[in-house]
Amino acid sequence: MKQPKKPPCHELSRTAGTASDQQSLCRSCGICCQGLLFEYAEFDPAERHPDWPDELIAVASEQSFPLPCRAHVASNCSIYATRPVVCRNYQCRLLGELIEGIVTLDEARRVVERTRNIAADFFDALAGEMAVDSSLGLSTLFENFRSAAGEALGNQESRDFQKKHKKILLSHARLVFELEARFR
Ligand code: SF4
Ligand code: SF4
Repeated sequence: MKQPKKPPCHELSRTAGTASDQQSLCRSCGICCQGLLFEYAEFDPAERHPDWPDELIAVASEQSFPLPCRAHVASNCSIYATRPVVCRNYQCRLLGELIEGIVTLDEARRVVERTRNIAADFFDALAGEMAVDSSLGLSTLFENFRSAAGEALGNQESRDFQKKHKKILLSHARLVFELEARFR
């Protein structure tokens, strides 16, 4: 998980988001937990905790677990108190903007809501053509789709491929653009 770019000082015109705002945003978001930005999270073996659920332990290696995170339940981190340092320290661009006062909590929540809707459009389009494995991150899912669909048509870049899978390709491009613009 990467750290956000620090915004230019001239953009810091609003009141910085409080720690409570930051927690509130992240606890209602979880986009970085859902495999949309990263495919896995690394941790120190000493951070493993008995509270971590079996579903998480079952798929974790010695020092990392895959995303979507098995501890992300009902849009919430079920091991919030014992989550690894990488999760505690990670700040996406949107959270950085909230901390710096560039966006308000309400504005940040609207960005999360819009991104969720864009992601839902992509997953709906994908589900219309193939079984979607919800344990896989966005990059792997999209690569699997390209390989399977591209093989069927002989060439992933052909006009036939682009025409047949227009809905998936457009919704994926929109989602990637949104994630790059507001979260990375
Ligand atoms: S994507 Fe950003 S705002 Fe959302 S939970 Fe992760 S750090 Fe918080
Ligand atoms: S441990 Fe919690 S904060 Fe970390 S990826 Fe999983 S759900 Fe998200």
